[in-house]
Amino acid sequence: MDVQGKEKVADSLFAEVSELGHEQVVFCHDEATGLKAIIGIHNTVLGPALGGTRMWSYASEKEALTDVLRLSRGMTYKAAISGLNLGGGKAVIIGDAGKQKNEAFMRRFGKFVDSLGGKYITAEDVNMKTRDMEYIAMETKHVTGLPEVMGGGGDPSPVTAFGTYMGMKATAKKVFGSDSLENKKIAVQGVGQVGMYLVERLTKEGAKVYVTDIFEDKLKDISNRYGAEIVRPEAIYDLDMDIYAPCALGASLNDDTIPRLKCQIVAGAANNQLKDEHKHGYMLMDRNIVYAPDFLINAGGLINVGAEYLGDYNRDKAYQQAEKIYDTCLSILNLAEQDKISTQEAAIKIAEERIEAIGKVKLRR
Ligand code: NAD
Repeated sequence: MDVQGKEKVADSLFAEVSELGHEQVVFCHDEATGLKAIIGIHNTVLGPALGGTRMWSYASEKEALTDVLRLSRGMTYKAAISGLNLGGGKAVIIGDAGKQKNEAFMRRFGKFVDSLGGKYITAEDVNMKTRDMEYIAMETKHVTGLPEVMGGGGDPSPVTAFGTYMGMKATAKKVFGSDSLENKKIAVQGVGQVGMYLVERLTKEGAKVYVTDIFEDKLKDISNRYGAEIVRPEAIYDLDMDIYAPCALGASLNDDTIPRLKCQIVAGAANNQLKDEHKHGYMLMDRNIVYAPDFLINAGGLINVGAEYLGDYNRDKAYQQAEKIYDTCLSILNLAEQDKISTQEAAIKIAEERIEAIGKVKLRR
């Protein structure tokens, strides 16, 4: 590539970084281990940027960059709206987790995290295992979400599921006039760590639960344990249901799926559910479907790992804090109604207002 071509790449790179308002993006490369990672630090006004590390075989480096930028921005809003003194960050490792991960590889990544001096704190995300976190912890103290045997808070998924359940109940209160989920038809898409705990809570409350997943054995197990009805993955969007709970991957709310939905509420744990935050937030609104913002109602896990990092970890306290998602969610839904804006925009507005106000406080002597 000629010099001009190189400048073009740099230009588009900074354009993408500045578009979402990132403070810093760190490209990490290590020849010896083959490590290629990007750490995205979106905003540290409220505190150090916390967010997990994901390893994925991205189709391109551009795709990895876009992913880390979107995810780290989401973490900023999640922390801000949950009242946490944390900023937003995330890391992605480019590659095949099944083939490339080993002790040296993960410890080298830990060294890169350490080099940021605590500005970025890492944790588990897609394709990261407890063992990987242990290797990272050998090189840096800026890691959280560690297992209980290492003095950590353990798996955050039950707290995430509880917060999601609280957000769902608040949305039911707004839409149906009661927060009882008894006899409500609720479809849970993805019965992984979070989805499974959510199904448990919903069935306990007497909801009629439908489940889908791409793994048959997981589905059968959940169906046997909780009496949930199994539906095929694609069929979930056409189901006659009251509440759709996305708990698998992002972007499940898009041009194709939204027109098919027959529910009145969308409330689930998956990150980045709206394919296009603006367009699809309003598409749902036009269809009279109330959307509980994902970064608000799935914040239980962040609440859990954040408390662990700040050193005052107590599981009961984490649940108490996650319970507050109910009130925050109701106030966001009311604000959206009053200002005639999408619930996603209302939630971002509140998060940004907190960052701005606290930023000013920090500047004062
Ligand atoms: P997980 O990987 O344990 O579970 C995801 C499940 O979704 C898996 O069982 C998978 O087979 C299934 N799935 C994948 N594609 C699907 C499809 N097309 N249709 C149906 N099912 C499909 O992940 P998790 O930890 O349960 O997290 C679920 C979601 O919640 C993710 O988007 C994650 O980013 C988000 N989240 C998780 C936490 C947490 O504490 N674990 C916190 C915040 C947000």
